[in-house]
Amino acid sequence: MKSKLFSFLMILVLVSCRQGNISQQEHKTASQQPKQTWALVVHGGAGNIREEAIPGEVEAQYRKSLDEALQAGKTILLKGGTALDAVEKVICILEDDSLFNAGKGAAFTHDGKNELDASIMDGSTMEAGAVAAVTDIKNPIRAARVVMTHSGHVMLSGAGASQFAAEHGLEIVQPDYFRTARRRRDLQKLIGKEKGGTVGCAALDKKGNLAAGTSTGGMANKRYNRIGDSPVIGAGTYASNSTCAISCTGHGEYFIRYAVAHDISALMEYRGLSIDEAARFVVMDKLVKAGGEGGVIGLDRLGNITMTFNTPGMFRAYAKANGEEGVFVFKEK
Ligand code: ASP
Repeated sequence: MKSKLFSFLMILVLVSCRQGNISQQEHKTASQQPKQTWALVVHGGAGNIREEAIPGEVEAQYRKSLDEALQAGKTILLKGGTALDAVEKVICILEDDSLFNAGKGAAFTHDGKNELDASIMDGSTMEAGAVAAVTDIKNPIRAARVVMTHSGHVMLSGAGASQFAAEHGLEIVQPDYFRTARRRRDLQKLIGKEKGGTVGCAALDKKGNLAAGTSTGGMANKRYNRIGDSPVIGAGTYASNSTCAISCTGHGEYFIRYAVAHDISALMEYRGLSIDEAARFVVMDKLVKAGGEGGVIGLDRLGNITMTFNTPGMFRAYAKANGEEGVFVFKEK
């Protein structure tokens, strides 16, 4: 009888221990689950974008295009896709849209050509890829990503970059694919010097990874195979899971010299600034004092975003897991 009672008690103890373990495990799993947050921020260039200078229907076109790109990126992130995939997709859509100075519709060089720059960075691995001064790769942002994943280098340029892209199955087009009458008029009037239209994107995915990318035709009327900040990691693009993901637009020479994208990250890392404080300090203080016009978009691992510019306007849009989203062109009043 005694031994029966003992075995019964032992079974009870074992069962309750097991249950204890299970509920502990369940608790652990729930608290370890990655936060299901995500965020996306996009720009279509900063510049002399004034309400009085842009006809309503043109503004509406820009808003529609930005929103289409935003929705495509949002769909990827909502489904649990990667920040890198969202960034590449958003930028591809804007490259294919001739409204923007990236891919089709790129600015003209002094010699009447189109030379494109792009870069992408994965904040989870610190890997990056870029192409510069390419003339026949349909989607330079795709090429930047393949450089990152398959070349063992960070930046390829000119004919070599095209050869590499072709070898990796990317679409090569005739150089005149990028030309549009509108950008040629800009060049002829020489008003395009500081015209916006560069595109960029930063994303946070549900796994908590950050990525950023930028693509441009560069400054109109550029000469001598000039390359701007957009393909330069740390200047026009930067992403690190420990701080932020940033894409810049503006007068590239300043963004290179002030290492703008990395400077924002460094202020967060070493000074503990928030993403918006860091971006505002660099764009509204340092760059303004230096005479560097432009803006940045970016986000951090919590999904806080910044869209900061020292020009009259910047085409921009964002969406967040909490349902907030919007498309903006001019300064908020
Ligand atoms: N940052 C680009 C460049 O200097 C131009 C732009 O963003 O408008 O090439």
